[in-house]
Amino acid sequence: MLNPHPGLPEFEYIKPASLAEASQFLAQHVGDARPLLGGTDTFVRMRDGFWTDKFLVDVKGLPGMTDLSFDQVKGLRVGAAVPMNRMLRLPDVALYYPLLAEAAESVASYQLRSRATVVGNICNASPAGDTIGSCILYDGVLEVHGVDGLRDEPLVGFFKGPGKTILKAGDIVLAVKLPVPPVSNVGHYIKLGRNKLSDLSIVGVSILAYPDKKVASGFHFRVALASVAPIPLELKNLTEVLASGKITPELLDVAAQAAMDACNPIDDVRGSARYRKYMVRNLVRRGLENIWLKLGQ
Ligand SMILES: Cc1cc2nc3c(=O)[nH]c(=O)nc-3n(C[C@H](O)[C@H](O)[C@H](O)COP(=O)(O)OP(=O)(O)OC[C@H]3O[C@@H](n4cnc5c(N)ncnc54)[C@H](O)[C@@H]3O)c2cc1C
Repeated sequence: MLNPHPGLPEFEYIKPASLAEASQFLAQHVGDARPLLGGTDTFVRMRDGFWTDKFLVDVKGLPGMTDLSFDQVKGLRVGAAVPMNRMLRLPDVALYYPLLAEAAESVASYQLRSRATVVGNICNASPAGDTIGSCILYDGVLEVHGVDGLRDEPLVGFFKGPGKTILKAGDIVLAVKLPVPPVSNVGHYIKLGRNKLSDLSIVGVSILAYPDKKVASGFHFRVALASVAPIPLELKNLTEVLASGKITPELLDVAAQAAMDACNPIDDVRGSARYRKYMVRNLVRRGLENIWLKLGQ
């Protein structure tokens, strides 16, 4: 019979003294160990029996993990162990990265966001991860420490499938870095869930836009979708559609239809594929209109 109140399985808690020690430990225990940040994905997956790691390697105390900084040259650096609430309290986040702020605020509840991190959201690689689309649209790059030292990994190409990334054994993400954003960027995140709090998205729509004199419409738009494909999906074709001519209600309709045509969702407990496709069209249309108003047009 299904146990309605399963407990956590036994595991060993490892607190490495250095990055090198942490990477080596993870590389030596492939399949048996994973890095731990807020634990809001990890403990649920372990409790439900999906993950059976013998070791959780707490990386929160390692150098640079809790650093949070913004400057006008390098942009934003969010250390892996910075909880979402702390990131949201940095005024530069709302000022320069409004899409990231709105997306992070949509994650579960205030209580959960005091543990949950953006890097954990990214590394968990759920197609439903609310903050991933915004990090992709702001051209996010991950700072990674592996057995061979430090390197940067762009988010484009990072995701390989549900729960799968290009990270190798021993890799630890230290931070997500977002370059200085385009001037006057505006953003909007729309999350359709089964309830207002604490649910994963049925569809998530991230939209970023900013003035761009080089294109016919005068504006550069980028759109990413959550929960409609095995990985978070940026719709590059929408950027082209929305650059192609004067922005009119008709062009927004064409873009919304193109978004619906480009995604290929599945049926699951949160919604059917057909429902998701129609919601993509409606929410992209609604989101573009909201963005258009924010652009002052
Ligand atoms: C009640 C509830 C509601 C939720 N609602 C939402 C929601 O609305 N939207 C949403 O997007 N998510 C939601 N989640 C999922 C979860 O909270 C987020 O994905 C969160 O951002 C994960 O961050 P974390 O720090 O807790 O990660 P952890 O659980 O610590 O780690 C997540 C994954 O990343 C790996 N990892 C951790 N640190 C590193 C590292 N430094 N380098 C490499 N890999 C690493 C871990 O091994 C694990 O596989 C919810 C979870 C719960 C329990």
